[in-house]
Amino acid sequence: MQDFNPYDMAVQQFELAADKLELSEDMREILRKPKRELIVNFPVRLDNGRIKTMTGYRVQHNVNRGPAKGGIRYSPDVTLDEVKALAMWMTWKCAVVGIPYGGAKGGVICDPKNMTASELERLTRRFTTEISIIIGPHSDIPAPDVNTNSQVMAWMMDTYSMHSGFSVPAVVTGKPLSIGGSEGRNEATATGVLFTTRRAAQRLGMSLKGARVSIQGFGNAGSIAARLFHVEGCKIVAVSDTSGGLYNEEGLDPGAVQRHKLAYGTVATYPDGQSISIADVLTVPCDILIPAATEGVITEHNADTIQARIIAEAANGPTTPEADVILFEKGRLVIPDILANAGGVTVSYFEWVQDLQSIFWGNEEIIARLEVIMNKAFDAVADQADLYHCDMRLGANMLAISRVSEATQVRGIYP
Ligand code: NAD
Repeated sequence: MQDFNPYDMAVQQFELAADKLELSEDMREILRKPKRELIVNFPVRLDNGRIKTMTGYRVQHNVNRGPAKGGIRYSPDVTLDEVKALAMWMTWKCAVVGIPYGGAKGGVICDPKNMTASELERLTRRFTTEISIIIGPHSDIPAPDVNTNSQVMAWMMDTYSMHSGFSVPAVVTGKPLSIGGSEGRNEATATGVLFTTRRAAQRLGMSLKGARVSIQGFGNAGSIAARLFHVEGCKIVAVSDTSGGLYNEEGLDPGAVQRHKLAYGTVATYPDGQSISIADVLTVPCDILIPAATEGVITEHNADTIQARIIAEAANGPTTPEADVILFEKGRLVIPDILANAGGVTVSYFEWVQDLQSIFWGNEEIIARLEVIMNKAFDAVADQADLYHCDMRLGANMLAISRVSEATQVRGIYP
């Protein structure tokens, strides 16, 4: 993991698709580099009176299909290369589901678990101010990601609005409902994972009733996926977070595990299960594996031992290209991140559209619209993969890259 560089991996995936598409070197050069990389160093006053200078990033990868869109993460491990990779994946993700956005991502190097709410608020407001030179409702629209949530989005929206002199709800998505958030946004990523997994199971002639599911990561994406797959009739046999893993072949109750995590800060000590390592959650006997934590966890070292028939990537970049080859050879169906977790950005798009129009839709309408988009995207990617006899990641990347390349071509090169 030490040498793992997400941007190198994103470029490697891009080149594979570009080769297959026979993309010109000039077009590759445009698409492989981010359009803008903003690095900001800014002071934040801590509760103890000290001042800490923090580093943050906002990268816009490509904006040829529309404004840049992508989350903001807070973590001690954030790097510019990670943010660049995530921004590139956002470009392909928006293109694969056909929503009119380009890709962006942001992050701040910080340890949110050891910061107070007021410190996080000051960090967020100052970071928003620092990146306000490139974000905006028609240029670049942030959203939550790892360790950021609707409260952080509310602070970002308020800060940007204070500078504008009026409320600008459409500058961020993933906001609370009371200030222009959308119904269904919180569950959107996990709902999209469920919709695409249903479609994949249909293709394999596999029933989701009683299917065993293992989930790495128990945050927004992972914990809600656990609940939705449980309601679908699946058995959640394993879960994990940064403190460890938990296994119960009879199936865990996701609600009870969630309450335990809220009370004790981790799923790992939940009593009704056997403790396993963080690594084991990927390789336990199961039918569906949902990586929902971080990048680079499925590699050539463990891909061989994964037992799941379907791997639905809720996380961004969980599988390395070397692991992809092994999984494809073993007949595992990987629903790639840019498709599987695109429900989040799709409902973000719905939120933005609602904010711009000041007309709001009900939950049923959101879910129905999401299902149409996810199913259409799944079928297009699966057909592409069948046509080229390749895995779904290559199929998805080919589809996305050809759409972005076409938009770039038709707009022409300025001046
Ligand atoms: P989160 O911060 O809510 O949760 C992350 C979870 O992963 C936590 O439970 C954490 O303990 C766990 N974790 C981190 N590293 C781990 C490791 N090495 N092993 C096991 N567990 C680990 O974040 P989230 O919003 O749920 O995002 C998770 C992943 O899903 C990220 O890759 C993110 O980019 C992706 N994603 C999220 C959304 C969204 O709407 N939240 C949308 C698309 C993609």
